[in-house]
Amino acid sequence: MSEIVQWMEDGTPYSPRFGDRYRSEAAHAVQQAEQVFLAGVGLPAAWAGQPQWRILETGFGFGLNFLATWLAWRGDAARSQLLHFVSTEAFPVSAGDLLRHAEQFPHLQAMARELAAQWRGLLPGVHRLRFDGGRVLLTLLVGDTQAMLRQQDMAVDSIYLDGFSPARNPQMWSLHTLKAVARCARRGTRLATWTIAAQVRKDLAQCGFEVNKVPGVPPKRDNLHATFNPAWEPRKTPLWALGTHAVKATDLAAPLLPTAVVIGAGIAGAACAHQLALRGWQVTVLDAAPHPAAGASALPAGIFAPHTSSDDSVLSRITRAGVRTTWQWARQLLQAGEDWAPTGVLERRHLATPRDETAAHAEIAPDHAASRRTGAHERPAAWSTDPALAQAAAAWSTHASADVLAAQGLPTDDAALWHTHAGWLRPAALVQALLQAPGIRFVGRAQVAQIKASPDAATWSVQDATGAELARAHLVVVCAGPHSNAVLAAMPEASAPQPLPLQSICGQVSWATYGNGEQPARHHPVNGHGSWVPFFKAPAGAAGAAGPAWVMGSSFERDVTELPPSPADAARAHGDNWAKLQTLLPAASQVYTASFATARTWAQVRCASVDRLPVVGPRPVDGDASDSNNSLNGHMPPWVCTAMGSRGLSWALLCAELLAARLHDEPLPVTNGLAKALSTDRTLPARSERPAQP
Ligand code: SAM
Repeated sequence: MSEIVQWMEDGTPYSPRFGDRYRSEAAHAVQQAEQVFLAGVGLPAAWAGQPQWRILETGFGFGLNFLATWLAWRGDAARSQLLHFVSTEAFPVSAGDLLRHAEQFPHLQAMARELAAQWRGLLPGVHRLRFDGGRVLLTLLVGDTQAMLRQQDMAVDSIYLDGFSPARNPQMWSLHTLKAVARCARRGTRLATWTIAAQVRKDLAQCGFEVNKVPGVPPKRDNLHATFNPAWEPRKTPLWALGTHAVKATDLAAPLLPTAVVIGAGIAGAACAHQLALRGWQVTVLDAAPHPAAGASALPAGIFAPHTSSDDSVLSRITRAGVRTTWQWARQLLQAGEDWAPTGVLERRHLATPRDETAAHAEIAPDHAASRRTGAHERPAAWSTDPALAQAAAAWSTHASADVLAAQGLPTDDAALWHTHAGWLRPAALVQALLQAPGIRFVGRAQVAQIKASPDAATWSVQDATGAELARAHLVVVCAGPHSNAVLAAMPEASAPQPLPLQSICGQVSWATYGNGEQPARHHPVNGHGSWVPFFKAPAGAAGAAGPAWVMGSSFERDVTELPPSPADAARAHGDNWAKLQTLLPAASQVYTASFATARTWAQVRCASVDRLPVVGPRPVDGDASDSNNSLNGHMPPWVCTAMGSRGLSWALLCAELLAARLHDEPLPVTNGLAKALSTDRTLPARSERPAQP
């Protein structure tokens, strides 16, 4: 349930939980945001000409400070390239209340609507919302401020200390919370707040802030400004060395724009290129194929959808964060109904065999077999029993309603799930759109054979087999799917101790266009025993006819790399796809009998890691990671973003943002724990140690 808000007669929101108003009366509220907070930390002047500006706020509330900051950033010609706004909130209000609140501030209403459109599914944890083409990044840390900040490793430029009055909200202003805030400061970080409570001033000073009482903004007589300048050298023990390989701000401020070469023009490569271009890099994307999205991303259409598990596993959490990211970018870059559609997805996962699932090993123990059949434990129990979680969880995945099931001809007590913010997408369309960003250049027919460190400059020379230079750049990002280890091996000077434990998995789908006037009764896809997309728009120029089409897949053939498959293999995969559809939707599948018989198959090779999670980060090194920059003579180590398995549509955009965030030592779009679980330097079993499939 969202936080309960009471509305005072003058429209000011009031918190019954804390017995305090969220803000001063409307006449002063925006002025407070602008004068106490923005001006209090020297904004907008401070962000002028900067590549990024990072603000931390305690207590998001109705987001008035965020909206005022975003508006100021939008209106400032000298604004930073990127604006990070990180805010904590233990008790999120509803999207409806956000909108109601904004009615009193007409100049902020359009932005409040954009915020409300992304304001959903706020389960405890980290949520990244994106605005203005990904240049304004709002990271919501949903949970208690102290606990959430203790898990962060970020360094911010400005701090807005908000919250209800210290008397009514003591936890927010406690010494331990302020210590957690101070952990996020760098020397020189400026802080502003409206309270001048003696204890707050004393505690801030103890945490290393120089504190000044300044004339206040009505209705306050005084406000507080502070600058982080401890008498000691702050020795922040990183939770783990995520920032070890980050580019230095001085490198990015160099007179020449930083350059990057991304190898692989699938969805991961295109997304990485887009994220780097947003941060001011000049990016060349190379691919051996003549055009982008020629590998697994050439899939006619695929599904993006959350994953659920009783213990809300890493896979489930990363997939939710990824689906939010994909949804936001698709909405930004693609035309709904043409290249994607947020239709919702029905999931009959209790039908799936472990072989169908990229994460089968992670969740399926034999004693869970019964619950798999009933589907009873596929969502954390607390999502049903804890009212504080139920509403946020329902925005992701609920038990499918009898209506949805009946419409598919399924028993109304079937243990299926309904994923609300999910749908289908044409990956090639998204790849094309991502590559359109200014600063990105695509070069096809570029077969990378060797990558050499240039002796005279901190660049890498990317060459073909004849030694001809395909590109030269400061940074190499490897997004080459099954070929990623071969690309890394072509960089002997940056050699990794051992290859990444990646695996090739061939997937074959069956698809066809509908005949004249034919259309499916239900447009939403169904996941489970294979994936069924009953409707997407096949574009002109795709292999086969253009127009409304369906696609069913996929086979899951480990270590098969040879393409095209033999006619016998293709026929077998096609037969399997048809059998899967009949199991998935026994009644609804029957109308496809004839269409399936004449459908075409499509095959490509996907790449997965041995633990079935993506691999994102600098290439691993032996021993102390902090030595690695030195051992490369000033050259940046190669970075990797791959192993999307069969969840590329749900993961790739998030992984690219994670790569860019780690590279620039920015606030991360996910918890540190999730970032670590995906990192290149996590402990992965070698391929030979891979657990046998059940
Ligand atoms: N900054 C907000 C704005 O611009 O609209 C107003 C913030 S309101 C005064 C304080 C917020 O802090 C409330 O939304 C409340 O739920 C949140 N809060 C209170 N205690 C908290 C805690 N310990 N951790 C995280 N959030 C907390």
